[in-house]
Amino acid sequence: MRFIDDFRNAEHVKALAGSIERRAAQAGRPLRFMEVCGGHTMAIHRFGLPQLLPESVELLSGPGCPVCVTPTTYIDRAIELGRDGALLTTFGDLYRVPGSERSVEGASAAGLLEALVVYSPRDALRAAQDSHDREVVFLAIGFETTAPTVAATLLEAKRLGLRNFRVLSGHKTMPRALRALLEAPEVAIDGFILPGHVCTITGARPFTFIPDEFGVPCCVTGFEPADILASIEKLTELCGPGRRPALENAYRRAVRPDGNEKALALLERVMVPVDAQWRGIGHIPGSGLDLGPQWLEFRVEPPDPERPSAEYSACRCGDVLRGLIKPAECSLFGEVCTPDSPVGPCMVSSEGSCAAHFKYGSQTFTAGLAEIAENGKGY
Ligand code: SF4
Repeated sequence: MRFIDDFRNAEHVKALAGSIERRAAQAGRPLRFMEVCGGHTMAIHRFGLPQLLPESVELLSGPGCPVCVTPTTYIDRAIELGRDGALLTTFGDLYRVPGSERSVEGASAAGLLEALVVYSPRDALRAAQDSHDREVVFLAIGFETTAPTVAATLLEAKRLGLRNFRVLSGHKTMPRALRALLEAPEVAIDGFILPGHVCTITGARPFTFIPDEFGVPCCVTGFEPADILASIEKLTELCGPGRRPALENAYRRAVRPDGNEKALALLERVMVPVDAQWRGIGHIPGSGLDLGPQWLEFRVEPPDPERPSAEYSACRCGDVLRGLIKPAECSLFGEVCTPDSPVGPCMVSSEGSCAAHFKYGSQTFTAGLAEIAENGKGY
């Protein structure tokens, strides 16, 4: 068993950076790798990893933050439910995401609804138990990592015979989103850093289509500097002359080929795949999860995808989420849009790409280690 310090060891990290530089020179072309996990986005910038890479290796953030990919129509639907009298329960980041006219936070401040920030679906369930007859709606967003906890909470709600607990599912699944990105002609990616948390649940196998069908290498990895650099080293190597694209697993201490069977069984018992809207990407068939037929008593009708909605026109979150621009290329970045006064979800979310660039834009590895030693990991 290796300890956390091994994954942050400066000599080890430096050796990995040197190896990436040599392999990038062998590849002989610019390489663009995309991470699709908000935890990776924050770790990459907090540890100052872009500063360790050669100029020819560029990192882009994709649609890996669940708050960021939640469309405006979902927020509008949540506000509608709150205005009809339901107590909304939500994670803190989602609370602040702008809808067409206002966020849930804004609607709450205006006295239009009541909302409670929770840390888990179980907190929402407890709110329902405490609220007696009042309907409590949990705003359920997240990828394959979060969805099993909602499924387990629904099992408990059924066991308790709760009649006032409902779920508005905005859950999404990652493989279809990556397929949609790979099929988009404007998106050019040379390799994917696959999401460690999602793959802990799903396993690595659902992502084999990326090298097999699209000829693009990918690598699952964890969240420490050495994990992330090891995956970039692997991707750079796989982009070298004569190499065949493949799926690699640099996170074997957590990710198995077939994932977490118990969590997957829970998901299958409670949820079914549905079409979903992704901010910045649009409609992706089969990329969402909703409550299955035996759980309709807990289900809230999701937003109509055709429903008109409005987004702040200058916000370029959609382009950021497809890796078409870096956050600083948005004209609002850092001036009009900051974490204290966010315009779009990529700045609202603590795992959003714009927030990561704003907080840690020029962070070095040494400064990152010092800051983490002082403040704790906490991303
Ligand atoms: S900087 Fe703000 S307005 Fe611009 S893309 Fe990011 S979140 Fe949207």
